[in-house]
Amino acid sequence: MYLEKGPVRFSLKSLESTGLSVKDLEVIIGGIEIPEVWEPLGPTPMPKISTLRSWDFKLLSRYKPFYMPFCDQCCLCTYGKCDLTRGKRGSCGIDMSTQQGRIVTLACAIGASTHTSHARHMLDRLIEKFGADTPINLGSDVNVEMPNTRLIVGVKPKTLGDLSQVLSYVEEQIVQTISTTHTGQEASYLDYESKALHLGMLDHVAMEVADVAQIVAFNFPKGDPNAPLSEIGMGLIDIAKPMILLIGHNVSEGIEVIDYMNRNNLGKPGEVLEVAGLCCTAHDITRYESSAKIIGPISHQIRFIRSGAADTLIIDEQCITNLSLIEAQKVKTPFIAVSDKAAYGVPDVSEWPIEKIVSSLTVGGLSGVFLPDLEKAAAVSVITALQTAPLRQKFKVIPDVKELSNIASKCTHCGRCRRNCPIDLPVDDAIYSLKLGDSSKLAMLHDLCLGCGRCEWECPNHTPVLSLMMKAAEAKIKTEKYKIRVGRGPILDTEIREVGSPIVLGEIPGVVAFVGCANYPEGGLDVALMAREFARRRYIVTVSGCAAMSIAMYRNEEGLTPYEEFSGAFEAGGLVNVGSCVANAHISGAAIKIANIFARRPLRGNYEEIADYILNRVGACGVAWGAYSQKAASIATGFNRLGVPVILGPQGLKYRRMYLGRVEDKESFTVYDARTGRRVWIGPAPEHLIISVENRREAMVMIAKLCLRPNDTTKGRMIKLTHYIDLYKKIYGKLPEDLHLFIRSEADIPVTFKDEVLSYLEKIEWKPWELPSIDPYYSENVFKKYYRGG
Ligand code: SF4
Ligand code: SF4
Ligand code: SF4
Repeated sequence: MYLEKGPVRFSLKSLESTGLSVKDLEVIIGGIEIPEVWEPLGPTPMPKISTLRSWDFKLLSRYKPFYMPFCDQCCLCTYGKCDLTRGKRGSCGIDMSTQQGRIVTLACAIGASTHTSHARHMLDRLIEKFGADTPINLGSDVNVEMPNTRLIVGVKPKTLGDLSQVLSYVEEQIVQTISTTHTGQEASYLDYESKALHLGMLDHVAMEVADVAQIVAFNFPKGDPNAPLSEIGMGLIDIAKPMILLIGHNVSEGIEVIDYMNRNNLGKPGEVLEVAGLCCTAHDITRYESSAKIIGPISHQIRFIRSGAADTLIIDEQCITNLSLIEAQKVKTPFIAVSDKAAYGVPDVSEWPIEKIVSSLTVGGLSGVFLPDLEKAAAVSVITALQTAPLRQKFKVIPDVKELSNIASKCTHCGRCRRNCPIDLPVDDAIYSLKLGDSSKLAMLHDLCLGCGRCEWECPNHTPVLSLMMKAAEAKIKTEKYKIRVGRGPILDTEIREVGSPIVLGEIPGVVAFVGCANYPEGGLDVALMAREFARRRYIVTVSGCAAMSIAMYRNEEGLTPYEEFSGAFEAGGLVNVGSCVANAHISGAAIKIANIFARRPLRGNYEEIADYILNRVGACGVAWGAYSQKAASIATGFNRLGVPVILGPQGLKYRRMYLGRVEDKESFTVYDARTGRRVWIGPAPEHLIISVENRREAMVMIAKLCLRPNDTTKGRMIKLTHYIDLYKKIYGKLPEDLHLFIRSEADIPVTFKDEVLSYLEKIEWKPWELPSIDPYYSENVFKKYYRGG
């Protein structure tokens, strides 16, 4: 029996008393859980900071942290600034590697706590609105409803109320872990990495809670492969209608707006009022009502607000430009902040009557309000939009065509805008060309620009680059109308049963997840092209967040968007939009479900075994091509602890750390074979755990490579190598130089490249491996469990 702080929990292995015999009883005060027989409790339920440390160290001994300090000083306490270059230590004794580990841990702590806080806010509200007894029912095809929660927390939640306990565990662990980043705590970079991995893992639980809570409460699609198609693009808004624009990640407010419209006979979005969103709130509003519209990813914020199309702007939380109020003021769009996480300094009007708030925003000169009462905010936003639309007449700050070259005429081609552009776009040339009468260069930048506005702040003439860009690209923007399949949420257990075997044997070459934000090096088209390439190659492609939006903004030769071209099922050649950022938990959940449903590995509190299974057998790879946020850092790190490699775009270097395998370190790629009990070198599969690459071509080759697993059958390895070789040859014009490291026997060689590969292998004196087919385990603990030999 043990007793701990927090929710108080007792665990009794067995209790015998007169007339009473109890085994494996857990009591949690604040909620009593009587474990069902669904699964015996595994070794690590509710892991603490160091519970999975040995698994982390095992991973980190193969995938060594490689640091790229973005800043070589520390100024986190008043001892500093401390110079940590050339082996120097700070006043607290910290060295450069440990400092980088600390910064990574902090980033993951910010990311994980952001999702957790989002989940808590949403859950508490849903419990208040719908009741703690609201059942968690994801339909008859989803029995393993919350795989991350079952695996990590060790419980099987039945109601919204049960999720509160799950979140309490996550919250407590985040507090414990973040405290380790205080001055004078942890002194080992490896231990910091273990803490970052812990936070990443917790993040997936928090995301799962947030998404499952909103799915069951709002009746979002429950894993429907044929979830409806919605619309996305800046060109699809009917500007003749009043419009409410939502920006952020917590959809609660958007749903209140739609419900208010329904109750007041204002029809669905698009009938009387347009309701559209940017970023993940937009994803989730279409999961509730597919006639709502998605403007696009985070990078479109400033430009769209500046267009003046919105008659009310509502912001909730996360990834909102800090300029949203300032930009809204420029176009006279009333501004409503609904989350205390982003109150923007505007007055709290919670106690005011609705009429007073509306009149203050429409004719009273108040540009913005803080209104965390969501039902009231919905009423205010709708009435305000209806009343301001005729007054504003879509006031906008985008100049007329004839003004364009006039504004640009002051440009001296000094280059300051370009030097301050995070992705080095040739803004200077484009503006200077505009001055000379050619707007085409600026129009071309529209698709590549991150929309950050830094060029404008740097220009000595205050040139409104983004406004000029929108005008220059106006004709194209008007045609931006695409289709996106709304987020379907979880992967069905029935789908896992169908594809589990071909994934684990390697016959489906991989599961590729395009996730994350819109900090793209060369525009969102790269993500769309990659997703299409891998879906056509019969990989299973899953997508979420801003990446899912960018993928929609592309048409094939027949004019179809990827969501129209490919099925929405979790199958070879499927393109599965799970939903917003928090829906990423369904992607990690799918990997976990493969181990549990297909391979029947026990799930409950059994993290190391499941992660070992995924690392060795599930050919999955994440791609966060435009990752920018701390949330993306913690999501990726959570995938890493579970054994899923992640590829970052070039901006990902700024996260300061990669986990890189070293091919030459053969011992690190040696595993246990449960058939023979021997230690076997498996080649670098997968080679890295997190790596940043330069461009789309490099990424595509890396995706194909990182889907290789030691468990691949010869047929599976042959299929995976076909894609690796084919992509490599198309891009580099030759065979991969490390190909021999992945060919275990001649049977692995793809038929289409047989002669060429055989002659290469002969040249380098390659020899078939002694044990080409093994039952691989990286963890000694797990190996011991499954080895039945002597
Ligand atoms: S935390 Fe350490 S390294 Fe950083 S400023 Fe303080 S003393 Fe210097
Ligand atoms: S707004 Fe666009 S062009 Fe300007 S600095 Fe940002 S990315 Fe570069
Ligand atoms: S900073 Fe301003 S003046 Fe200089 S090149 Fe850019 S737009 Fe022209």
